[in-house]
This record gives sequence, structure tokens and C-alpha cells, in this order.
Amino acid sequence: MASVKAGVLRDILIESLSDGHVAVLDKLEDPKYDEDVASELDLKATIVRTLLNDLHENGLVEYQRTKNKKTGWYTYLWVRRDDKVSEYGQKYLNSRLKRLSTQLDDETQTVTFQCACMRVPYEAAIESNFNCPVCKGDFTECDNSGIIDDIVGEVSRLNSLLTMIA
Ligand SMILES: [Zn+2]
Repeated sequence: MASVKAGVLRDILIESLSDGHVAVLDKLEDPKYDEDVASELDLKATIVRTLLNDLHENGLVEYQRTKNKKTGWYTYLWVRRDDKVSEYGQKYLNSRLKRLSTQLDDETQTVTFQCACMRVPYEAAIESNFNCPVCKGDFTECDNSGIIDDIVGEVSRLNSLLTMIA
């Protein structure tokens, strides 16, 4: 894995999951039991198991379960799936982009009004006679160009990340 790509994927994991999840992944450079990961990170085993389960739900780790014949308890040996990280990153970015595109459509196609305390659709502003029932201020047409700029900026950031991990 090229280092730029690895760095971008790491940032995506932190952004979409958390530092804790990435710390757990870092400890799985070879397969390990959850108690061992917990003691290496100086965390409670229950916390590490929660993090591992999240990672498992996202296909980023797998486990091998074995039954201890003496105790009857199961132990889980966790294995990191480095081959899945890139796919995970692409899925995450694409779903964020999809949501942003819907948001952008909303922002460009609808007119909204605002007062000091809230932002409402055109219909609601008319209904209340352009006067906010809560703060008693006037509803004026909302200038959402800043919001639109932010969305457009975020879309271009995510698209360039997508190119970097492709
Ligand atoms: Zn108000």
C-alpha cells in the first residue's frame, strides 16, 4: 500500500469510526486475542470487544472462535483485514457524497427564511406572517450561499480523497 493512500485511509477510519478503533487495528499487525489487545492498549476488555465488534460489522476484522475444553468458554482470535480497508474507505466516501448531493439539491432548490432563532421553509414563513412566534423577530429570506459553498467544498475534498485511495 502506497504511503499517501495508507495515510488517507487512516484518516478516513478515524473520521468515520474513532481513534480507538484505529488503535485496535494497529495492534492487530498479527492475529491476537481480545484480552491481549486490551492489555497492550491498557483498556478494559469490554471496551476493546465493543471496538472489535464495530470493526467486524464493517468487515475490517474477522475472528476465529475456539472453545476452551476445560472452561467451556469461547475465545476469539482476531485477524485484521487489510484487504478490506480500501473498499471500506470508498464506501464511506461515496455514502457521504450521496448525502451531500441530496443536501445540495435541497439548498439550491428551496427558499428558506430565518429569524434569530430558527430557519423555516417558505410556507411556514408565510403562515406566520413573516413573524417568528418564538423570538418575535422578522423572518427574512435566508442567504444560504455560505452553506452551499461549504457543501461544494466538502464534495471536492471527498472527491479528491476518493481519487487518492482508488
Ligand atoms: Zn425566531
